[in-house]
Amino acid sequence: MSEWETVIGLECHVELDTRTKMFCGCPNEFGAEPNTHVCPVCLGHPGSLPVPNEEAIRRIVKIGLALGSEIAPRSLFHRKNYFYPDMPKNYQISQFDLPICVGGHLEVELPDGTTSRVGITRVHMEEDTGKTTHGSASGRIHDADSALIDYNRAGVPLVECVSEPDMRSPEEAAAYLRELRATLEALDVSDVRMEEGSLRCDANISVRPSGSDALGTKVEIKNMNSIRSLERALHFERERQVAALEAGESIVQETRHWDEDAGATKSMRSKEEAFDYRYFPEPDIPPLAPASGWIEEIRGTLPELPRARRARYESDMGLRPEVARVLVANRASTDLFERTVAIGAEPKAVANWVTQDLAGLLNEAGTDARDSRVAPEHVADLIRLVADGTISGAGAKQVLEEVLETGDEVEMIVDRRSLRQVSDEGALGEIVDMVIAEQPEAVEKLRAGKQELIGFLVGQVMKSSGGSANPKLARELLLERLS
Ligand SMILES: [Zn+2]
Repeated sequence: MSEWETVIGLECHVELDTRTKMFCGCPNEFGAEPNTHVCPVCLGHPGSLPVPNEEAIRRIVKIGLALGSEIAPRSLFHRKNYFYPDMPKNYQISQFDLPICVGGHLEVELPDGTTSRVGITRVHMEEDTGKTTHGSASGRIHDADSALIDYNRAGVPLVECVSEPDMRSPEEAAAYLRELRATLEALDVSDVRMEEGSLRCDANISVRPSGSDALGTKVEIKNMNSIRSLERALHFERERQVAALEAGESIVQETRHWDEDAGATKSMRSKEEAFDYRYFPEPDIPPLAPASGWIEEIRGTLPELPRARRARYESDMGLRPEVARVLVANRASTDLFERTVAIGAEPKAVANWVTQDLAGLLNEAGTDARDSRVAPEHVADLIRLVADGTISGAGAKQVLEEVLETGDEVEMIVDRRSLRQVSDEGALGEIVDMVIAEQPEAVEKLRAGKQELIGFLVGQVMKSSGGSANPKLARELLLERLS
């Protein structure tokens, strides 16, 4: 692979979770009954007039400021003309040569701990299209050859963020998308749920001989529904292009579709190059000219961004960089961490619980961290009970599993499952004495210097206590009696 260099740029679409749509007052709500959030404006009826949503403009300015873009003193909406059933107006209101946010960059932390800087070309505002469902989905009355259209999504505010072709590997592209998602989540502008389509990503990828400055022929890949899909698709496409070039073939500029099940990209109709969108300025919306005072007011609302937060966790709380990275990757984890530390728990212990045990369980269950029942009090109680020897580390994991299912209080679960360790010296001492009496051979050998047998004897105490003994205390009592 070293003879070839990969060049990747990403175009990401972000649905803003504003209360209403981009150009009308219809509710912007995911999952509502189809075609219930529509009106003459978002259905494109003749004579209806679009009015830009101020909150959406505020949010795109916020995104631009976070990415270091220049906020254009004057920008324009254009009509992008094309016919598609899920677009009732037959054009999409978008932006063309005068976007709201110009330039910028995102600092991306790579898995090996190094940092790269990915340029942002532009960030512009547009509206989403409706949604087409093919075949017999959802069991509604229609046959397999038909398609159903839901216009609830038509007109939802959509921000397109275009990167420079600055990325050199699928891993770097994945890291960029992760950072962008975390940034948008921190800005509180979108729920960035890739599985629901509120964050979508298309990739442009080409390869060229290492050391060459010229760009190879690029291919656009669509339909990647997760960061993992993006990485897989880019790996596949890089290998495909290199194999083709090494076989003396040339790369066709086209749009390819990522087939998740087949693990391959497949050629789509190459309609793009033939398409003329006939952009022209949207005559019903005046140019946008945000006042500088308004922009500065928005700048004042910018929260701590993921990169700064990671740095703070490392320097002020002593977290390892990889732990800080996992913690800051999503807001639910960050919030749980911050709130647990705020009620007095030790940061490193909290970070371990959130990024390891909890993250592992959520992953196994396929649960989004945002939908988890685990509250700061749960994590703080677990840490406290393990530290004072009330429950074992293994017991604490069982408790956490049950918290995820029921949301019940930690101490309640500990009692219900009888996980309280016997830390009472008198009660545990009796078990220890019993084990010593039952294991004369092991005791003999231990006294003769075979120190490793202490582990065996602790194990016997644990067994006799039905797993409820505090192993640390059991060990101390054994050593005390046998020394
Ligand atoms: Zn509407």
